[in-house]
Amino acid sequence: MASTRRWFLGGAAATAALKLLPAPALAQGTARVVVVGGGFAGATAARFLRRADPRIEVTLVEPNPVFTACPFSNEVVVGLRDIEAQRFGYDSVRADGIALAAQAATAIDAEARLVTLADGAALPYDRLILAPGIDLAWNALPGYDEAAAERMPHAWKAGEQTLRLRRQLEAMPDGGLVVISAPPNPFRCPPGPYERASLIAWYLKSKKPRSKLIVLDSKDQFSKQRLFTAAWKQLYPGLLEWVPLSEGGKVASVDPATNTLSTDFEKHKADVANVIPPQRAGKIAQLAGAVDRTGWCPIDPATFESRLKPNIHVVGDAAIAGAMPKSAFAANAQAKVCATAVLALLAGAQPEEPRLINTCYSLVAPEYGISVAGVYKPQGGQLADIEGAGGASPLEAGPDFRAQEAQYADAWYQTTTRQVFG
Ligand SMILES: Cc1cc2nc3c(=O)[nH]c(=O)nc-3n(C[C@H](O)[C@H](O)[C@H](O)COP(=O)(O)OP(=O)(O)OC[C@H]3O[C@@H](n4cnc5c(N)ncnc54)[C@H](O)[C@@H]3O)c2cc1C
Repeated sequence: MASTRRWFLGGAAATAALKLLPAPALAQGTARVVVVGGGFAGATAARFLRRADPRIEVTLVEPNPVFTACPFSNEVVVGLRDIEAQRFGYDSVRADGIALAAQAATAIDAEARLVTLADGAALPYDRLILAPGIDLAWNALPGYDEAAAERMPHAWKAGEQTLRLRRQLEAMPDGGLVVISAPPNPFRCPPGPYERASLIAWYLKSKKPRSKLIVLDSKDQFSKQRLFTAAWKQLYPGLLEWVPLSEGGKVASVDPATNTLSTDFEKHKADVANVIPPQRAGKIAQLAGAVDRTGWCPIDPATFESRLKPNIHVVGDAAIAGAMPKSAFAANAQAKVCATAVLALLAGAQPEEPRLINTCYSLVAPEYGISVAGVYKPQGGQLADIEGAGGASPLEAGPDFRAQEAQYADAWYQTTTRQVFG
């Protein structure tokens, strides 16, 4: 596979250069890296490291035998795609010689460099990479706890929640009201709620045209806003209403018993309520002591090493990555940069200053894609945008251009999931 070869060559070149330098952990013949979380960030980091230097014993800790991907799960919600297209096993990860611990990590002792697993076993490490993604902040929005999520699905972790929201939309009669509650920043996939709103609007327009969709937002601004709002005006006039913070959009509480979302000004009794709650780094990051007051993990932007705990690196959604959004594209890019830095550090070398790229694609209808891209570098202790290096889709573009972007989105998903899990 071409991507495999590229990874290997890239890693091998890096390793060859590093061999010239003193190699503390690797000088003893081997080094142990534990990766917690087998999603876009963790699986990428584990495979990248192992392929770059087979002397490194890599263990991937992940309790789920099958990973269910969020990108394109909004298509599953509206019946455009089967959930099976989101599911990936770990056979290829194992085939790379990575040990898979099929359990949750339950504790981390940063001083002793030990990860404890659910069965009580302890895994020692030289370097730990934490990639646990997000946790939903239950009760941060009053009324929204785990039980409420059964009636008012978030569908912000893909799987049963995605299917639950889909079933509710399918069961809703024509003329019903769908309400989406969009969370405050920062959260997983900044354009995600608006892609979802677009595709639900498309579903309603095609299947239940007397229905209505209201997006209640905790913000006044959101990703790709001009592109989304222009598309909504063109495709879904009168069907989709977005209510920003400044117009009373912030949901103050929810009542699952009546499927009601309350703002400071109004109550909305929904037929389908999709509540996307506030979020924070996956709990294990907190247990490791790698989370600050924001609920996320501060990192060094060149190595992704925790600013709070030495020898622990944090990548993907759990990290505070400055201007980089919480996306699978970003998680994959960060994992490679982090793995390269870990290789250097294990060899006693100085990691190089990285450049990272992100592109977020969204669909506003099946054949209508839009995107925003950014390039980032460490600056002032953060990952900062390189000005003028990124950009968004043009506001004015014809149907062929939009259809092409929808195809690029699909190609990105196929390529990335093949690289991470295939
Ligand atoms: C609706 C939706 C649409 C999206 N669309 C896109 C898109 O089009 N493009 C894009 O780039 N991004 C998209 N995203 C964002 C993307 O899904 C996330 O940014 C990405 O999954 C982050 O990767 P991660 O590895 O940090 O977390 P995850 O992919 O969530 O992986 C975390 C893993 O850690 C595991 N884990 C957690 N705790 C533990 C523990 N204690 N022990 C062991 N394992 C643990 C979990 O089981 C999970 O497998 C979308 C998100 C949503 C919700």
